[in-house]
Amino acid sequence: MTTITLVRGDITEQSVDAIVNAANSSLLGGGGVDGAIHRRGGPAILADCRKLRASHYGKGLPTGQAVATTAGELDARWVIHTVGPVHSQSLDRSALLASCYRESLRVADELGARTIAFPAISAGIYGWPMDDAARIAMETVRATETKVEEVRFVLFDERAYETFAAQLR
Ligand code: ADP
Repeated sequence: MTTITLVRGDITEQSVDAIVNAANSSLLGGGGVDGAIHRRGGPAILADCRKLRASHYGKGLPTGQAVATTAGELDARWVIHTVGPVHSQSLDRSALLASCYRESLRVADELGARTIAFPAISAGIYGWPMDDAARIAMETVRATETKVEEVRFVLFDERAYETFAAQLR
């Protein structure tokens, strides 16, 4: 049984087994959640990301995939980096956004994580409308078989929180 919980707050302050990063394909850091995770987690996360780039992802982590690193100084064991799709008016990229949640949970299962925190992937710099992002996030987590016991969505502002809460109801 997986319990879905919602928290309004900062994902870098969560105590969970795995924190999901809305990364970009370079894995070398960026703005939004990505910047916050690297700032607060310290240089060990970037060092792991660089190793992953050198060993497996020379061309970058493809959109919709997920990969884990140390969580550095965060109160978590792992950061799972996933690359959300940039929102498009003309193309339906929702399958890629769903893949981010599914693949992150698959990686969490491989690691043995029991609690995981997700941000609203693609709903910031990548431009996804919050209601659509929330619907895809919630539908995908509900439909995914996982050993994770708690999936916590961490929403940064009241509007995002209310949008996810409406989807949960
Ligand atoms: P993307 O590039 O995938 O759109 P962003 O990091 O720009 O990712 O934004 C994703 C969502 O995360 C946005 O709703 C943004 O407001 C939110 N966000 C930004 N910083 C944090 C944080 N520290 N904790 C939780 N959510 C955050």
